[in-house]
Amino acid sequence: MAKILVVEDEESIGEVIEFNLVSAGHVVTRVNNAEYAKYLWDNGDKDFEVAILDIMLPGMNGISLCEYIRLQNDSIGIIMLSAKSQEQDKVVSLSVGADDYLTKPFGVRELLARVSALLRRIKKSEKQQSSDDILVSGPFSLDLKSRILSKNGKEIDLTSVEFSIMELFFKNEGVALTREKILEGVWGENYFGDIKIVDVNIRRLRIKIEEDASAPQFIITVWGYGYRWSV
Ligand code: CA
Repeated sequence: MAKILVVEDEESIGEVIEFNLVSAGHVVTRVNNAEYAKYLWDNGDKDFEVAILDIMLPGMNGISLCEYIRLQNDSIGIIMLSAKSQEQDKVVSLSVGADDYLTKPFGVRELLARVSALLRRIKKSEKQQSSDDILVSGPFSLDLKSRILSKNGKEIDLTSVEFSIMELFFKNEGVALTREKILEGVWGENYFGDIKIVDVNIRRLRIKIEEDASAPQFIITVWGYGYRWSV
């Protein structure tokens, strides 16, 4: 159960979203414009865990609202809703702090899955912030609190997905992990995306952490299976 803000000016879409979120056990506040959402926010109603914001709204748009909310709250999960013709808006909304986006028309199951995945990630990062664990594996150390990976004491910049993959590897040293297992561990079990996203991220990680990405020493390919963290 989570407290969710929905800002959508198309009544029929807003209703479907609200109905399904409430059916899934969430508490929903639904408004049809950004100004009113901002008014609620400014007047104390800001303990939402997730906000679902349509981009095209009358008056203030969803991107400006996303930016406004994100400046005041680091931990809220924000999902943007966009039309197919607004590809550029997706990029902009991610850059002002959205976590995810859905292109209309989308299925209800997909929306619910994205909300669940987002909630799981938020809970996970809250748990991590409250512990000050540092995981060490070979020349690497992973600071779960500050979310920094170091190799021989030197910091390596990672995206949050790359960091989560490293965490999974550190906790499964020497264990061969299937791509599915990595996908599930990092993106959540209801992720609808392509399994290739695992390989793309592994390739990027190797470039960042290996001496020679074409002859990896740490992230070993297990042919026909997946990957193994080896130190
Ligand atoms: Ca709209």
